[in-house]
Amino acid sequence: MTDVVSLGEMLIDFMPDRRGNLADVETFRKAPGGAPANVAVAVSRLGGQAAFIGKMGRDPFGRFLVEVLEREGIDTRGVVLTDEAKTGLAFVALDERGDRSFLFYRDPSADMLLRQADVNEQLLREGIVFHFGSVTQVHPESRQATVTAAQRAREFGKIVSFDVNLRLHLWPSLQAAVQQISETVPLCDILKVSEEEMEWLTGTSDLPEGSQTLLQKGPQLVVVTLGDKGTYYRTADFAGRVPAFRVQPVDTTGAGDAFVGGLLLQVCDRVKGRSLAQVIGFEEELREVIRYANAVGALTVTRPGAIPALPTKREVYDFMYAHRAKR
Ligand code: ADP
Repeated sequence: MTDVVSLGEMLIDFMPDRRGNLADVETFRKAPGGAPANVAVAVSRLGGQAAFIGKMGRDPFGRFLVEVLEREGIDTRGVVLTDEAKTGLAFVALDERGDRSFLFYRDPSADMLLRQADVNEQLLREGIVFHFGSVTQVHPESRQATVTAAQRAREFGKIVSFDVNLRLHLWPSLQAAVQQISETVPLCDILKVSEEEMEWLTGTSDLPEGSQTLLQKGPQLVVVTLGDKGTYYRTADFAGRVPAFRVQPVDTTGAGDAFVGGLLLQVCDRVKGRSLAQVIGFEEELREVIRYANAVGALTVTRPGAIPALPTKREVYDFMYAHRAKR
């Protein structure tokens, strides 16, 4: 059985050789990118079975991305290659603090053309968790494909996970993004937002209040990731914060995706024979799940890049063992 079936965009990130303005960069290095693909790789590195559903161009970059997924042991039956558009490209600029901004070449790109008919329903049936994001909700066709897949997964009795991962510059306006995303929140059981996303969606930066507003829309578990401050969680029964591990960050790219991969695989491992409500119904168990996910996120920020930085199961255990006394 597949643990996590992740649906969404996969594209090429062109990473700059220096910080500063894109116009001044001389050399770019290609790297696989796209949050839902990163989540699939995170799950697989941690020893889980992952499948990816998405659309890439039938071009050298699309084939490169499929090779990356295959090398990582990910089920690629859900990948569609198309002649209609090319694989999406993103040129990444790093400011002096190392924060990223993107220049996208998606006019349109293949990932934007994911259609309902492209979604392999058999894969949805095979997974324990179905995971999606918001980038495929920007354009009407891929939005319909994403929403329908989430609805089908629910009908099949799957646990549905949504990482909001709002990329503001892809939307016509913040208002449009908030409206669409708010409509899909009720489709998920596990909702992950950053602090900023919680504020965008709820109008408050207050963790107890904002998370409660989101929980009332339907999810069983809301997690708000707080970077080096760890993770705030809320269920119908309790709320609290699991502190982050203390590390020296090198590059925070992919931390959220790594966190989600760790969280979802922990849920998959624990849910066998039980419901999600039972797993998250014990606060200590939920805190252990989140502590593991925090460890996966923390390890990822200690290395450059997204996919190259994702840790293996062994690395996470060694890291948690080394930090066991510092709980
Ligand atoms: P996102 O990329 O979605 O905004 P975060 O940056 O909050 O997510 O990172 C996700 C998780 O990774 C955090 O909840 C935390 O556990 C871990 N993490 C991120 N940055 C750091 C850091 N600087 N030190 C330790 N852990 C971190």
